[in-house]
Parts: sequence; structure tokens; C-alpha cells
Amino acid sequence: MGWFADALGPFRGFAVTLRQMTRPRVTTSYPKEKREKPQRFHGRHILNRYPDGMEKCIGCELCAGVCPARCIYVRGADNPPDNPVSPGERYGFVYEINMLRCIFCAMCVEACPTEAITMTHLFEMSTTSRDDAIYTKGELLVEPDGTPNHPQEPNRLIDVNELELGSGWMRATAPGGRAAFEGVVGWTPSATHSELPAELGQSGDSAELADEAGGSS
Ligand code: SF4
Ligand code: SF4
Repeated sequence: MGWFADALGPFRGFAVTLRQMTRPRVTTSYPKEKREKPQRFHGRHILNRYPDGMEKCIGCELCAGVCPARCIYVRGADNPPDNPVSPGERYGFVYEINMLRCIFCAMCVEACPTEAITMTHLFEMSTTSRDDAIYTKGELLVEPDGTPNHPQEPNRLIDVNELELGSGWMRATAPGGRAAFEGVVGWTPSATHSELPAELGQSGDSAELADEAGGSS
């Protein structure tokens, strides 16, 4: 019988190949196809603006202070009274993140009092030099329409469709620290393009939440 098993050997190999060919594919043809990211995916940062174009960053340096990897450098400056860059007294004059050090923990996002810094679903950050991995303010700050710049090619806008597909970030703490929001997740539009739908079991109705907060204060 040994000779029979030997004769079947190659066919057994083909059977394995055939079985694999009929199984559903688990890989995608990246970069032509991009897989949908989880809602809480932590991709590259952006610095946001208000709808009127003003910068949200007030140069407070809280993000730099909280960063466990010490990869953020911020230098604030006084707003010019006749042409303020941000609401309030100061703005982020210098803002840099060293992406080679970043561990994508989003502590900076949590610490920011104005939601100036958020994380997107954009993840393509490969560079050919260490210097290019340091994202400067010009690269982090979104365009007036909320579209991020491409870091290595400033002013080359990211494909908006791609951003809308993958755009997302969620603040895990109550907005403003108001008691009525305790345990309630607040939803923040990412890159000023979209508001994320609520996850299962969470309310995404901000008007309802605001009513509740107003009623209890
Ligand atoms: S995501 Fe974490 S490591 Fe990266 S810049 Fe923010 S705080 Fe620092
Ligand atoms: S990004 Fe936020 S935490 Fe960081 S300096 Fe600007 S306002 Fe402050």
C-alpha cells in the first residue's frame, strides 16, 4: 500500500492548492484598494480651524506636556490685536510633531482644551529622511475648507473622498467636563468634514445632550 500513498502524494498537494483557491480572499490590493478602518483608528494628526477659518490652537502647550513620547514642540505667541490668528490671547506660533517618536496614543487629543489637535484615519506617512518625519505647523494645519495637507508635499491636498471615507476621531471624555455629560461620549467632527455616527449603545444626538446639560445646570 506504500506505493499507492506515494502515488497520491502530488494530488494531495494539488488538493490543498484547489481548496485555497476557492476560499474568500482576506487580503486587499493595497494601495489601489484601502480597507475601511475601525472607527477609533488613530492615524496622523491635524490641527483644526473654526468654520470662520481661525485656528483652534491657542498655544497652551498642554499637548506637549502630556505627550509620553515627548514628540510635540509648541511655542505660543501673542495674537496680533488687529489680525488675530486664533480666538483669545495666544496662538500656536510654532507647532511640530516628530512622527518617528509618536506612539499614536491620542493623549495630546485628550489634553487639548479647544479640540485643536485631532487624529484622522490617514496613515500613509513613509518618508525617506528623518527630517521629513517631523511634521510642521504648515503641514499639520488644515486648509480653510478642513482638508489636510500632504506632509511631504505641502499644499498638495489629500483626496477628499478618501478622507471622508476614513475621516474619524472620537473624544473619549465628556466635553467641557459638565456633570450632565458624565459617561457620555461626545462626538467631534473630524477635519471639519463630517460628524461620526454614534456607535452601538451610544447617543450621537448632540442637541439632545445639550438640552440635558442645560436642564440639569
Ligand atoms: S499621539 Fe501620543 S505620542 Fe503621539 S503626539 Fe500625541 S501624545 Fe504624543
Ligand atoms: S493643540 Fe491644543 S493643547 Fe496643544 S498647544 Fe494647541 S490648544 Fe494647546
